Amino acid sequence: MDDKKKCCICKKEYSGYGNNPAPVKDRGLCCDACNYGVVIPIRAAELVKQKKAEAANADRKL
Ligand SMILES: [Zn+2]
Repeated sequence: MDDKKKCCICKKEYSGYGNNPAPVKDRGLCCDACNYGVVIPIRAAELVKQKKAEAANADRKL
C-alpha cells in the first residue's frame, strides 16, 4: 500500500496523516513541514488580528 500524499502547499509528497491547511488552503492536506513552517504562524497571526479587532470593537461600545 502506498500512503504517499501530496502536500497542497509545497506540492511535495509526504507520508503520514497530513495536517489541516486552513486558513492557508481551503482543501487538501499539508505536510508537517508546511504545517509548522507556514500554517501555524499564519494561524497565530490571524488569531492576534482577531483579538485586536475584538479589542477595538469593545472600545467602540460606549
Ligand atoms: Zn508541504
